[in-house]
Amino acid sequence: MATATQTPERLSSYNPATGELIGSVPIFSAADVDAAVARARVAAQTWSTRTFAARTEELVAFRKALAAAADDLAALMHRENGKPELEALVEVMMSLGHVQHATAIASQAMATRKVSAGMLANFRATISYHPLGVIGVIGPWNYPLFTPMGSIAYALAAGNAVVWKPSELTPLVALEVEKIAKKTFALPDLLQVVTGAGATGAALAKAAVDKVAFTGSAATGKRVMMAAAERLTPVLLELGGKDPMIVDSDADLEKAAEAAVYGALTNAGQACVSVERVYVAEAVHDRFVDEVVKQVRELKVGGDDGHLGAMTSPAQVDIVRDHLQDAIAKGAKVLTGGPDAISGSYIQPTVLTGVDHRMKVMTEETFGPVLPIAKVHSVDEAVQLANDSKYGLGSSVFAGKAARSIADRLRAGMTSVNSVMAFAGIPSLPFGGIGDSGFGRIHGEEGVREFTRVKSTAEQAFSLPLNMMTFRQPKDMTKRLRGMIKQLYGEGVVSRAGDVLRKLRK
Ligand code: NAD
Repeated sequence: MATATQTPERLSSYNPATGELIGSVPIFSAADVDAAVARARVAAQTWSTRTFAARTEELVAFRKALAAAADDLAALMHRENGKPELEALVEVMMSLGHVQHATAIASQAMATRKVSAGMLANFRATISYHPLGVIGVIGPWNYPLFTPMGSIAYALAAGNAVVWKPSELTPLVALEVEKIAKKTFALPDLLQVVTGAGATGAALAKAAVDKVAFTGSAATGKRVMMAAAERLTPVLLELGGKDPMIVDSDADLEKAAEAAVYGALTNAGQACVSVERVYVAEAVHDRFVDEVVKQVRELKVGGDDGHLGAMTSPAQVDIVRDHLQDAIAKGAKVLTGGPDAISGSYIQPTVLTGVDHRMKVMTEETFGPVLPIAKVHSVDEAVQLANDSKYGLGSSVFAGKAARSIADRLRAGMTSVNSVMAFAGIPSLPFGGIGDSGFGRIHGEEGVREFTRVKSTAEQAFSLPLNMMTFRQPKDMTKRLRGMIKQLYGEGVVSRAGDVLRKLRK
């Protein structure tokens, strides 16, 4: 672990299902965070000058070591976060997919590109991509490995060092990953973990990092952005969501119901891209609801073979209860679960109908195992309601022929068609949102370039008699320029700048 020297207090990590103390970690002070960033800067200087092939070799070793520790990482996440072991293992697998993908595509994503030089036809114009330096990664508790790895893997593959502040609710899994990184990377400070709560995160956002990649709530994201503004540090914000699903009248209802149930309830609904609200065409609404209820009744909460685990944070249980009570008070009907079926950190999956946008459960992030279903009279109404949100992260559409055109009308960073959450599992698709869901992209080539600085180079290959970047111009230059403007941009547009230049030279 990166060393914490300043603060004597420690942070405890508990099993949310049992309340058992699992371990404790140091709380990094601002001085500790600054020291970690300084060490990371030294590591970044060496790492950034390595070839892609050399970096690939170490990233592959890192991935293999993580894969070898998959069972331990999953078991730890199960205990620390409360999710079922199967879901924890899926999380490890998806995280490894991103380490592999980022490693494989980094050189291609950062390859220098030649672009048209436009009217400066005697120039070679190129765009090149360079590592930023040190990336501060601040992560949440709901996917303690997958979510931060979406930034860490791409930042490392792009040639940066990383200082990672995991959530105070799930610090142990981060420390395991740091141990593996120290064994596999030649540079021990390439990936460091700084543990602590909000103050440690705030210190990282203010530190001398070259970018902050933050995943968490919109409220904290705003604070991170304000703190980073002190040094004009760029930020990548992956925030919350209120993902809609649209089910059209010609959708495969059984598949749509299965996807809605999984999308709303996986990880006990604590996913930024959970299905948080469903809009179903009037003609199939009742059949869809029946199918959903049937499938939800087959699910088990808690225990070793449970489909849904414990909620990770007691504060989140209170938010879910509040949303359910608010919806019921405003007329929603509870078909399964409900506020009375909340017991400690366990919430029974709750299906609601008769919901509308006066209710928090349809407008604010619930982040729990709740599936509110609304009836709509047309696709237009469904799209209008789906887009009636300050968030814009994921979304999904179940429909026949119109599926793709409905998807294109959704105001969201990502859409799955006849599926849910699939965009998160396809490593080449950029992941991110708009509006209160944040900005910037992880995953895919965009995810690599997010952790680079872009450099433009204009290289003069040969000189032309007509050179506009000098004061030494012929007397009739004004007249020539007037002609040029007309020919290039006016009525007599000629397709290639080179043709104009040739003409003007005559
Ligand atoms: P949170 O905002 O409470 O905390 C996130 C992280 O920020 C934690 O590590 C926390 O310690 C740190 N933090 C708290 N105060 C800070 C401050 N002032 N400055 C810097 N860091 C600070 O979020 P959470 O409750 O851990 O996570 C749940 C939220 O994360 C949900 O809204 C969820 O939708 C979102 N999320 C988004 C994505 C995505 O990719 N878009 C993925 C997972 C989770």
